Amino acid sequence: MDCIFCMIRDGKIPSSKVFENDKVLAFKDLHPQAKVHVLVIPKTHIASCDEISPLNSDCVKAVFEAIPEVAAGLGLDKGYRVVTNCGEHGCQSVKHLHFHILGGEQLADKMS
Ligand code: AMP
Repeated sequence: MDCIFCMIRDGKIPSSKVFENDKVLAFKDLHPQAKVHVLVIPKTHIASCDEISPLNSDCVKAVFEAIPEVAAGLGLDKGYRVVTNCGEHGCQSVKHLHFHILGGEQLADKMS
């Protein structure tokens, strides 16, 4: 499968890893849009938010359980934003479910 995040998961292409457990991986975004910009992915390939179902939602649970640990590791004690883009209108460019963690500075109030 030519999924770039699966290749990162498998160590086939490099990444700046900040967190990993058996179900979740987090690494720095290549093109940061905030002082701190990390992507959190389920290790299981799920194409997008639109593909979440009772059959795979345990991966999403694992991601959200990991997020506070990822944020603490990044020193985001003043808060952060968690974003997922879905599909064309959501401007999703990588078709492997991922959650952006943005922070390390005051973020804009407006989200779109
Ligand atoms: P999205 O537009 O929501 O699909 O986000 C995809 C994100 O993946 C973008 O913010 C990209 O900068 C980021 N990205 C793409 N390739 C890599 C990579 N090899 N390593 C880290 N981040 C990447």
